[in-house]
Amino acid sequence: MKYIYLDYAAATPLDSEVLASMQPYWQKEFYNPSAAYLAGRSAHKDLEAARAVVAGVIGSKPAEIIFTAGATEANNLVIQGVMGKFPKNEVLVSAIEHESVLQPARKYKCTHIPVDKHGVVKQESLKRLVNDSTVLVSVMLVNNEIGSIQPVKEIAAFLQQIRKQRSEKGIKLPIYLHTDAAQAPSYLDIHTARLGIELMSINGGKIYGPKQSGALYIRAGTELAPLILGGGQENGVRSGTENVAGDVGLACALKKAAMQRQSESERLRGLRQLFISGLQTSIPSVIVNGSAKHSTPHIVSAIFPNFDNERLMMELDEAGIQAAVGSACSASSAEPSHVLKAIGLDKGSTQSTLRFSFGRHTTKGDIIETLAQLQRLSSQKPPA
Ligand code: PLP
Repeated sequence: MKYIYLDYAAATPLDSEVLASMQPYWQKEFYNPSAAYLAGRSAHKDLEAARAVVAGVIGSKPAEIIFTAGATEANNLVIQGVMGKFPKNEVLVSAIEHESVLQPARKYKCTHIPVDKHGVVKQESLKRLVNDSTVLVSVMLVNNEIGSIQPVKEIAAFLQQIRKQRSEKGIKLPIYLHTDAAQAPSYLDIHTARLGIELMSINGGKIYGPKQSGALYIRAGTELAPLILGGGQENGVRSGTENVAGDVGLACALKKAAMQRQSESERLRGLRQLFISGLQTSIPSVIVNGSAKHSTPHIVSAIFPNFDNERLMMELDEAGIQAAVGSACSASSAEPSHVLKAIGLDKGSTQSTLRFSFGRHTTKGDIIETLAQLQRLSSQKPPA
C-alpha cells in the first residue's frame, strides 16, 4: 500500500544529497578529527567546513556553533548550562515549549509565559514577568504541535531595553534569549542577528538531515556551563568524539533547507490553505487550532469534535494516511497535550485533535485524498 505521509513535524526522510555528503565518513574518512596525523587533520578540516556552512546560513561566526546530538540536547545544554552558571536566578519559558525545554527548566526557579488562544506568547505578560533576577528567556520560533510562530524578534527588542536599564542601574546580570528553532529552518528566517537572540537550537532530523544531529548557536560572550564533560571537544562545551558524518549531513541539509525555503514555503502555504478550506467545507464542525496570521506553512492542527483522535488516527492509518495525535514525543503519553491546554482547549477538544504536517513530498493529490478519507470516516461514524 502507498502511504500518504503527513507527519513531517515528527521526522523527515533523509535527502539523497545529504546521504551522499555523509557517505565518506562512515568508512573511508572514519578518522577521529582530533587525531594529529594527516587523515585526522583532513577529517577535522571537513568538520570545520560543515561548521562554517551552518554559520553561513544563520549569519554567525563558526566558533559560535556547537554540534550536538539533536535539539533535545541543545535545549538541555541551554537551560542547564545557563542556569548552572546562574543557579540563583530565574528562567522564563513559554508555556508551549517542547518538553526538552520545560523539563530541565523545572530544576530551577522557572515561570511559564502564557500564550493567547492562538498559541502566541503574550508579550504583555512576558514584560510583566521579567525582573532583575531573570537571566534566561526561552521562546521557541515555531510550535511543533499547532504551528504558531512566536514573536521572537519583538521579544529580543524588549530584552535589549532591559539590558540598557540594567546597565543604567549597575546590574551586571546578563539576560539571554534562547529560541528552539527545530521546526523553523525550512520555512523561516533563522538569521541570528536579525532575530536578535543569543542562543538557538536546530535539529537535523526535521530538515531532511540525519536524526541525532543538531547544533546550538551560542553568541560569543554568552556564559554557560558545559553539560557533557570529557575530552574538551566543541570548545569545551560538548565533549565527545565529533559525529563528523552527522555534522556534515546537518550542514548539507541546512544549506538545502535555506535554498528551498521560499519556494517550499509558498508551495506548502497553498497546500495548507487547500487542506483547511477543504476541511471546513466537508466537515464544517472542524476547528483549526493555532494562528491564522502567524503560522508555519507545514502544520495544521485540527479538532474533530466528538471524534476520538487516537481512533481517527488509526482509521486514517488503515486508509494509508499517516497523521499524528499531538507531537511525536507525547504520542505514548495519556496526558492531554500541554500545548493544547495552554491555548485553553478543554479535555474533550484535546482528545479530538489531530496534527497533519506537510513536507517536500506532499502533493495536491495527497491533500485531496486525505480530505476524501476524512470525509468518509466522519460521515461513517455518527459522533458518539
Ligand atoms: N524542539 C522542537 C520544537 C521539536 O519539534 C523537537 C522534536 O520533535 C525537539 C525540540 C527535539 O528534537 P530531537 O528529538 O531531535 O532531540
